Amino acid sequence: MGQTARTTKLLLDFSGRASGGANPGKREHLAATVEILNAARRFYLDFFLAYPDKLIECTQVISKKTGEVREGLISAENLLTWAEFQTVETREHPTPLPDWNFSRAFPDLPNRYRRSVIKDVIGKARGYLTTLTKWQTSGKKKGKPGRPTATNHPTLYAGTFSLDLDELDLRKSFVRLKVYDGSAWVWVHYPTLYNRYFEQRRADEAWEAESPKLILNKKTAAIHFLQTKKVSAKKIVESKQDPDLVTVAVDLNVKYLAVITVRQHGVIKETRFVSDHGLDHHRYHHLKRVAKKQWQSGKPVKGEHSNQQLWAHMRRQNADCAQKTARAIAEVCEKYPGCVLVFERLRKIKQSNGSKSRRLNRKQANQLKGKINQLAKEQAYAIGVVSVEVNPHGTSQYCARCGCKGVRFTYQAGQRVTAKGGKLFYCPACHYECHADFNGSVNVHHSFFREFHWQPRVHKSG
Ligand SMILES: [Zn+2]
Repeated sequence: MGQTARTTKLLLDFSGRASGGANPGKREHLAATVEILNAARRFYLDFFLAYPDKLIECTQVISKKTGEVREGLISAENLLTWAEFQTVETREHPTPLPDWNFSRAFPDLPNRYRRSVIKDVIGKARGYLTTLTKWQTSGKKKGKPGRPTATNHPTLYAGTFSLDLDELDLRKSFVRLKVYDGSAWVWVHYPTLYNRYFEQRRADEAWEAESPKLILNKKTAAIHFLQTKKVSAKKIVESKQDPDLVTVAVDLNVKYLAVITVRQHGVIKETRFVSDHGLDHHRYHHLKRVAKKQWQSGKPVKGEHSNQQLWAHMRRQNADCAQKTARAIAEVCEKYPGCVLVFERLRKIKQSNGSKSRRLNRKQANQLKGKINQLAKEQAYAIGVVSVEVNPHGTSQYCARCGCKGVRFTYQAGQRVTAKGGKLFYCPACHYECHADFNGSVNVHHSFFREFHWQPRVHKSG
């Protein structure tokens, strides 16, 4: 039994009053809210680090599953109660620690926000203490872990936000947020850029909703809705025993981003080529411009990011492409319930030769591969498909039909010309001829079942 998570974003509308956006000044409220919550987090971070022993105190913990009592680390819930008792003034308990009076420092801060801040800080402080003790016992001089920062995106617990989604008129959807206007905490309505896609994801019953977060950026503001789902999937070892097992293998390349092959009973049942639609070439041109500009202006200025818009454009294109390719892989998996998704372990790439723009482009292409790999795994897992990584040794060099060593080639004027970067593959032993990326993809299946002599006996599966 595993778990997977996903986020759906709901953008707040700051397009201006005339086009239905928020009133001026509302954005400032959000910034003020983030700021005061950061200050509150700083307060509790200092507080917990002043009492480090409490954070790692051992107490009797009652297991929820078995009812068994055992020694364990103090729970976050108990720590929260303890921290509130020490710092918050109440009618029953009017005297918190004099140096740590939260009620005086942050009057009227809503309880829900205070709790979300404390929970957040407990995680941060504990993580810090663990790495600190590890570092101290290691005896190293370098690499002392730094104190955690108090800044974070506010978590919206129930009671600090509500969604007013008018189903009849989608243009009128608001989110109501409890925000700080500089002097008091008030409820404010924010118009949203609501869409059907959001509602569809949110209403999906297979996913359980967690507390959303407010993400405030320089230009945009959004509420991120986190959802989780329990996933039950067979273990790879169990699946491998199944004679009817379907394997979906993916070979990641540059021009054809992914070549997906589906195999059952030793036969390839389906093949899908996912093209990059000229992305590689397109990106190369942009990078040529980047390289030229850098050459013209001499050394890049330290701490300054040049060509920001161009890089943002390339980032968006890469992200979009990775998303679409991963989706295509997950779609194929969806057709074969209980299948196993097989990838090659990504190679550590050597610094390639060629011009600066070429090197930059190779780097980008490799990052894209990593991104596709990661996204496809996540999306497949959400539908109960487990993925495995196999050794990439030899998948592009050997024949997928007979296992002999072959060559890459291209056709030039009807003649076969052997070339290192050739698109086609030829096997001199059995005269098999096919697309080189297809050959690689089929070999990934062989690598998974370890069927050929050239495949290493010992392999670590992911
Ligand atoms: Zn062959």
